[in-house]
Amino acid sequence: MKESIPLVDLSKAILQPLKDPVFANANITVDVLRLDQIHPVISGNKWFKLKYSLIKVRDEGLDGIITQGGAYSNHLLATAFACHGPGLKCIGLIRGEEPKVLSPTLLDLQQLGMQLEFINREEYRQKDQLKFSWTQKHSNLLWVEEGGQGKLGVLGSEEILDLVNTSEFSHILCAVGTGTMLAGIINGSKENQKVVGITVLKISDPKNNDIEAFLQKHTNKKNYEIKYEFHEGGYAKINSSLLQFMNDIYSRSCVPTDFVYTGKLMKAVYELVITDYFQAGTRVLVIHSGGLQGNRSLEPGSLVF
Ligand SMILES: *Cc1c(COP(=O)(O)O)cnc(C)c1O
Repeated sequence: MKESIPLVDLSKAILQPLKDPVFANANITVDVLRLDQIHPVISGNKWFKLKYSLIKVRDEGLDGIITQGGAYSNHLLATAFACHGPGLKCIGLIRGEEPKVLSPTLLDLQQLGMQLEFINREEYRQKDQLKFSWTQKHSNLLWVEEGGQGKLGVLGSEEILDLVNTSEFSHILCAVGTGTMLAGIINGSKENQKVVGITVLKISDPKNNDIEAFLQKHTNKKNYEIKYEFHEGGYAKINSSLLQFMNDIYSRSCVPTDFVYTGKLMKAVYELVITDYFQAGTRVLVIHSGGLQGNRSLEPGSLVF
């Protein structure tokens, strides 16, 4: 998708050292890979997860993409944006009835030319049926799973670690929703690096769950660990200590985070350092996966940035 690539600026994905006495005292360095900076709106990792779907649309001569998500979905916004540039058709199946007032994200989607189709929650839950009926109706569109999950998403995420020289880091940390980005990062990592995924969903069985099953299927490496205890109450749950933490870290380091993914990730980094998870001398790389637009669902004034 040559036409659409200039819309994001990968040279802005810099490494930012995170200075804090907590890290210095433990003799640990922490650097943040700022994927959030590649575009003011489009979410960092979602761009990578979509790349090969866009290439498939082009190579197979399809008309565009059909996909699904919630009213604040980073994935839907990234998809609408990516289709808008090259003039591809794009349909978004939105979870829930059409609201009286559209969320800022839904308004953006509309403006970017995405056709919004509101699906009630019961129908939305019948994933296979939903996919079947909509792909039958639109065989000229590529079906992309919710959140950009799947093989092509993993393939694109494998390129994240290529952006900067990451070979000197011993640990790489990222937030985990579906595990697609995590699988790509594991595949792109070196054997002597450890990849640590921080789940943002509340998962009851750490051995047997969708993320582990996804990783079994999409990576051959074992140099990873998933941490399940940093979900802060569950997916997209808001709590004041998390918001306070996000404000603090922004004030100290100018790193903006979102309350669904990267806020929990950064909080986990601090807690892991404080509880001596890392040995002295460890060099930690944190992947800032973007997603800041989701903060628009918060009460105005909740955040200082
Ligand atoms: C979607 C998203 C994730 C989760 O990615 P998965 O590949 O689904 O695990 C992490 N961070 C941000 C900012 C996201 O938008």
